[in-house]
Amino acid sequence: MKHPLTNSRWNALVNNDQSKDGQFFYGVTTTKIFCKPSCHSKVPNKENVVIFKTAAEALSANFRPCKRCQPTGSTPNELWIEQIKQYLAHNFQRELSLDAIATDCHGSVSNLQRTFKSLTGTSPTQYLTTIRLKHSQELLKNTDYSIKTIATRCGFNSDTYFNTLFKRHFQQTPLEYRTSYTAR
Ligand SMILES: [Zn+2]
Repeated sequence: MKHPLTNSRWNALVNNDQSKDGQFFYGVTTTKIFCKPSCHSKVPNKENVVIFKTAAEALSANFRPCKRCQPTGSTPNELWIEQIKQYLAHNFQRELSLDAIATDCHGSVSNLQRTFKSLTGTSPTQYLTTIRLKHSQELLKNTDYSIKTIATRCGFNSDTYFNTLFKRHFQQTPLEYRTSYTAR
């Protein structure tokens, strides 16, 4: 998704125009850092500027928030946890150990567990399980895949384990869930 660098946007970032904060963000392709219009950082070369409508858009394009103007308004830890959540949402179908999550998200296991828990109130493992179970409910409702196939597609390494977890969370087995849903 591309947004044009209009003259008014260019003038806003050159003049550090605070009134434009929140309306757009600009990234600099050579540094991969993005800023609010009001940021007092050095004016970049015009041809290296890309415009984002939201901070999330900039983050998903792999730009990092400027430390000076803090365009996300969040602490680095909050950002890190957001990135981990996105990572889990995209990778829940794989077998994921805490080690693998920590490595892929550039942190240590202990820091991952502590920070995740303190900011979300839940552990990375519980969070991952919730994503997987929600996805399994969709598959149970909308497909006729076998329980084993659904378990595999949701990242559970066995259908027995999937059954147990599902029952613990929803007080019914996956098959009971599917039956009750299709009977409606
Ligand atoms: Zn900045």
